[in-house]
Amino acid sequence: MEQKKKNKIYIIDVTNRDGVQTAKLGLAKLEKTMLNIMLNDMGIYQSEFGFPFTKHETNYINANLELADLGLISPMILEGWSRAVAKDIEESCKNTNVKHWNLSISTSKQMTDGKFGGKITRDFESKGKPSVLGLMADAVKTAKKLGALTVGVNAEDASRTDMEYLIKFAKYAKEHGADRIRYCDTLGFDNSFSIYERVKTLAEEVKIPIELHCHNDLGLAVACSIAGAKGAIDGGVDAYINTTLNGMGERAGNADLVSVILAIKKSSKFGESYKLDDRIKLKQAWKMAKYASYAFGVPIPVNQVAVGENAFAHESGIHADGALKDRRNYELYDFEELGRGEDEIIDTGRKITAGEYSGVKGFRNVYGKLEVEFKDDREAIRILDLVRYANVHTQKPLTNYELRFIANYPKQAKQIMTVTP
Ligand SMILES: [Zn+2]
Repeated sequence: MEQKKKNKIYIIDVTNRDGVQTAKLGLAKLEKTMLNIMLNDMGIYQSEFGFPFTKHETNYINANLELADLGLISPMILEGWSRAVAKDIEESCKNTNVKHWNLSISTSKQMTDGKFGGKITRDFESKGKPSVLGLMADAVKTAKKLGALTVGVNAEDASRTDMEYLIKFAKYAKEHGADRIRYCDTLGFDNSFSIYERVKTLAEEVKIPIELHCHNDLGLAVACSIAGAKGAIDGGVDAYINTTLNGMGERAGNADLVSVILAIKKSSKFGESYKLDDRIKLKQAWKMAKYASYAFGVPIPVNQVAVGENAFAHESGIHADGALKDRRNYELYDFEELGRGEDEIIDTGRKITAGEYSGVKGFRNVYGKLEVEFKDDREAIRILDLVRYANVHTQKPLTNYELRFIANYPKQAKQIMTVTP
């Protein structure tokens, strides 16, 4: 048996950033907030919770930072994504108090040539043209100067970037104060063998913690994430895997959160040497996956890892008989470990929609079932009003989670739903 390593694997969930960039899909700010609360409850290390530079995110971002201060979203770190452009960060810091950042810039020749059209050089400034390295270093310095506690630097398209340049880029980021490098397999180009070698080399050469950001264009996002994490740890640094709920994300999506956790913990011998952040509670998996599916309006495929309808279904005679005799015959892990078999999330939804038109009595009754009591009719009416707005805001019946949140944090709920152009 391989020896247990001292470095660990942490999870940075990017559903509220990469997940909402999915074409034709999005989340209401209230839904993004619920995801942050639930990710925190699940013991996730960090949530990439949005775009501080984007004006319509400002109220959502500030309200979520306030919820962190109040202890509702704690200890999970809330981190904002930005282009590695110093003035974007300056502008963002005028409107929000984001203290953790990931700053992104392309590093592959394909993208620096293909996207910047010769206006930005790859290496150092020349003939008045800015450079990838210079822009990135300025952005990191600016974030740190404005009080950032952690800054990750994202090498977009790292998997198609020549190693020599990638190492130079990461060393330069580290020299200017970056705390982590995000190795972005932006197009899902890596396989588990290539990413292992490349990330291990990067870790050995630069000695900086590495994030694995893997897309699923070849169906390898989860495999690449854990192979990359192994590379980072074998190279002597901590690994941070970027995930999304139900693998939501651009094109074929990102590495699915629940699959990544299971792959680390349950695949052949991996978890014996490579340890996942022990705060993670797999038991929240079912609830989170269901909520994300509901919020995105995207059904969970029947054969989805762990949370699909068929993930524990056995029909053929031999399998059914085997599973009944001893579940380990045909099941790698137990459905109870995922929190399956517990309450559904939307059972009061329709009643609340009706609540919009019924009196405050019916409304108090609905909340009574959630064990939320109002001190008087005035308070109940105030919450009912917010619930009506929330219904308009999410455009779907509210879940129990949302109803409870609105009743307990009405001030923040109101702020989150406020978008003033
Ligand atoms: Zn991505």
